[in-house]
Amino acid sequence: MLKLFVYYKNHSLFFLIISVVFLPIVLPARILPEIPKDQLAVVDDVWKSFEKFVDAQKGSQVDGICELKKYFQRFGYLPNDPAKNLTDLYDEELESAVFAYQKNLGLSATGKLDPDTMNEIMAPRCGITDVRKTHMNFSSFSSTNNKTLHATVHYAYFDEQPRWTRPSPMTLTYAFSPDHMINYLSMQDIRAAFQRSFSRWSAVIPVNFTESEDYYGSDIKIGFYNGDHGDGEAFDGVLGVLAHAFSPENGRFHLDGAETWAVDFEKVKSKSAVDLESVATHEIGHILGLAHSTVKEAVMYPSLHPRTKKVDLKIDDVAGIQALYGSNPNFKYSSLYESDISSSWSLLVERRRAFGWTVLILVFLFCFCL
Ligand SMILES: [Zn+2]
Ligand SMILES: [Zn+2]
Repeated sequence: MLKLFVYYKNHSLFFLIISVVFLPIVLPARILPEIPKDQLAVVDDVWKSFEKFVDAQKGSQVDGICELKKYFQRFGYLPNDPAKNLTDLYDEELESAVFAYQKNLGLSATGKLDPDTMNEIMAPRCGITDVRKTHMNFSSFSSTNNKTLHATVHYAYFDEQPRWTRPSPMTLTYAFSPDHMINYLSMQDIRAAFQRSFSRWSAVIPVNFTESEDYYGSDIKIGFYNGDHGDGEAFDGVLGVLAHAFSPENGRFHLDGAETWAVDFEKVKSKSAVDLESVATHEIGHILGLAHSTVKEAVMYPSLHPRTKKVDLKIDDVAGIQALYGSNPNFKYSSLYESDISSSWSLLVERRRAFGWTVLILVFLFCFCL
């Protein structure tokens, strides 16, 4: 009897240990790195009030959900009809907008305002609408050195697919507004951040960018603006919309003057600080003709959390822009492909290492239990 008890006790212990050790493996979402809490809750965030809509049910009256409908109108998920009276009813139309949003942002398409979806909705983002002609390519595309790479691309263009048309080799000039700049960052730092952003794009396409002193005569005009600044796309204060830029060959590039712009997070401690170089790189993509991508890692994905840097072009960004302008002859896909997969590779190596340790511990426990 005692032996039987020890047998059961040991085996219960064994299965308990197995459950505890394997639980993180069977629930992969738990072992993915989580977004730090300070990036989720930011004081004064214009969309923070949306928090209360998490898990709201279709068919119910939800106080203030008409504001979320306005948000979906603003970004192209609901028809923008000023005559329509928006109600606080979580109706079918709102559910369809949620579905479309989730699909477009690469989220699980549940049609529900689950925490992941709300987290993305509340994230600061670009002011350009999302719903554009998306180019899906599930097969492959060729690099300049004829090696074929397999990837899924989800880049998109503006309607009519506009691009800059200049004789080759193309050079576009850019200039900073003499009247609409910020004074807490030095011009030297701002210039350097923009130079790096422009050079990332010129490294992949045969287009050069040079800074000009002639603001009004330049192709790309950069400035920081507050609230309503005359182009029908008013900025909204801290976080919310961070910037917007116009499609080719307009060249207007506007940043929200209400943001805490940063070029070095070591020097700027604000939780709402936004990386200037990341936003610049994204908006240059619009200036050149790219719309928003559904690939979360891509520079052309619409949102950017505060205190986050996202400056490296991904395969999706490069495939999209090269389909418009062709490739820079010095560019090689292989280097980009390696850097693109390096993060997923290191995660895989980490998981394999963790799995190896788990097996070793289990073998040891099995021997011990016997
Ligand atoms: Zn954008
Ligand atoms: Zn503007």
